[in-house]
Amino acid sequence: MSFVLQHVRDNLWSGRLDILPADRLVHGFSARLGGVSPAPFDSLNMALHVGDDPACVWENRRRYFSALGLHAERLCTIRQVHGTEIVRAMRRDAGRGARAYEDALADADAVITNDSGVPLMLCYADCVPVLLYDPVHHAAGVVHAGWKGTVQRIAAQTVARMWEEFGTAASDVIAGIGPSIGAGCYTVGPEVAEQFRAAFPAHAETIVQDREGALHLDLWAANHVQLAEAGVLEKNIDHADICTLCECKFFYSYRSADGRTGRLAAVMELR
Ligand SMILES: [Zn+2]
Repeated sequence: MSFVLQHVRDNLWSGRLDILPADRLVHGFSARLGGVSPAPFDSLNMALHVGDDPACVWENRRRYFSALGLHAERLCTIRQVHGTEIVRAMRRDAGRGARAYEDALADADAVITNDSGVPLMLCYADCVPVLLYDPVHHAAGVVHAGWKGTVQRIAAQTVARMWEEFGTAASDVIAGIGPSIGAGCYTVGPEVAEQFRAAFPAHAETIVQDREGALHLDLWAANHVQLAEAGVLEKNIDHADICTLCECKFFYSYRSADGRTGRLAAVMELR
């Protein structure tokens, strides 16, 4: 199991996790190179809500989707609000949020579908993107898990919602955890640490690490643990193990010295 950052074309790069089957779905984690946005969004900013020129964002989306063999005009996205709302996308929702932020499908932090031809997209920088695939019912979910969503178990809640909507059994789910901030770079205050210790008592020392007086939060572990506790098999959970702040030349990091910055995209479309 591994994560590969591939050069696709024209300095466009896309990350993928081997665990997600390429014959059943297309997925990608974008990087920041090969786009048209000026500083501080340079250059492949995929988000409309950060103050970048919408024409640049559209060109970036068009380039990246084309490089994946997908159609940007069909992308379906959500207005992420660090909550736990999960929304189902239908084929008729293709294109929602592709060109205008207000037109996105919903205020939500996860979107699921069992329709092919609808590329689901999240935008993020440091927050954890979790991709879920049920090969039995051919259904997909993409989850935006910042610390607020993670402590409220949005990834596990999305697996449960896929059961309600599609009959997805957690033991069939394949889960991929994309590039995002790693524990080494992510320090939090005692109030946040305490919420995680209370939410994950059996794994508190793995998820909240006291390193010489600083409290480091491991969001990858917190998402992994909640998926495993929900019934996803250990062998079916893969991690990119890439920290967006350590690798901020390749990825956007909300905590990088740039301050204002662009957003990466996590994309998944069922074939
Ligand atoms: Zn780091």
